[in-house]
Amino acid sequence: MPLKPVRLEPIAFCPLLVGNWKMNGLGSAVAEAREVAEALRAEPVRARVAICAPATLIERLARAVKGSALIIGGEDVHPEASGAFTGDVSAAMLADAGARMVIVGHSERRQAYGETNALVAHKAMAALRGGLEPIICVGETLAEREGGHALDVVCRQARGSAPLASDGMAFSLAYEPIWAIGGGQIPTRNQIEEMHGALREVLIEMFGVPGGVVPILYGGSVDQGSVANVLKAREVGGALIGRASLSATEFLSIVRAAE
Ligand code: PEP
Repeated sequence: MPLKPVRLEPIAFCPLLVGNWKMNGLGSAVAEAREVAEALRAEPVRARVAICAPATLIERLARAVKGSALIIGGEDVHPEASGAFTGDVSAAMLADAGARMVIVGHSERRQAYGETNALVAHKAMAALRGGLEPIICVGETLAEREGGHALDVVCRQARGSAPLASDGMAFSLAYEPIWAIGGGQIPTRNQIEEMHGALREVLIEMFGVPGGVVPILYGGSVDQGSVANVLKAREVGGALIGRASLSATEFLSIVRAAE
C-alpha cells in the first residue's frame, strides 16, 4: 500500500518577550504585573511573556499572576547553590519564590560588578540546575562597535558565557548592544541580523543541532513602534524590554504590537 504523504504544518513562531524591571518596583508595582496577567488571560497572545523583577517582589508577583500565562523571573542569581554569600540569592531560592526564569550577565552587572564570562557561565549553569531558564546577555560598547570589533567581542562573550552543557535544558541568549540600552539609538535591521546570524553560528558550533533553536532575543530601546520590525529580523526569537516594561499599558502595547 502506498504511504500517505504527511502534511507538515508550519511551526508557529512564538517569540519570547521579557520585561526587565531592573532596580525598580515597590509593592505597588505588583498591580502592573497583575494587569499584564489579566490581559493575557482575556486575550491570549502568540508569545511567551515574562517579567524579570527584583528578588524582593518575586514571591508577591508569582502569587498575583498565578494561573495566568505570565512568567515571573529574577534579574540575577549566585553561581553556588547555598552558603556564606551575604546578600546573594540562589537559583533554588528564586524558584522557591515562584520564578521560572532569570537574567544573567546583564551589561549593567558586567560593568558595575566586573562580572566575567566565566562567572556568567557558572550563573547560567546554576540557574539550569535549579530549574530556571537563564537568559544570558551579551553586547558590545559603542567604542567596540565603532572600532569594528562588535562581532568579535559579542561572539567571544557568547562562547564564554553560555552554559558549559545544556543537556536539552532551555536557555536563551539576549543580544543587547550597550549603546542601545536605556533610550539610545536602536541598531539597524542589518546590524541586528548580522549579529544574530553570528550568534546562531556560535550556538550551533557549541551545542550542535539544539543550538539551532536556542532563542536569541534582541534588547535595547525596544518599544511599541520598533518591536514588530525587530521581531521580523532573521534569527530574532524575542525581545528584552527594560524601561518600557515598567508600565503594564506600555508593556502590553509592545506585546500586542509583536503579534
Ligand atoms: C535592558 O537593559 O535590558 C533593556 C532592554 O533596556 P531598555 O529597553 O530600557 O533599553
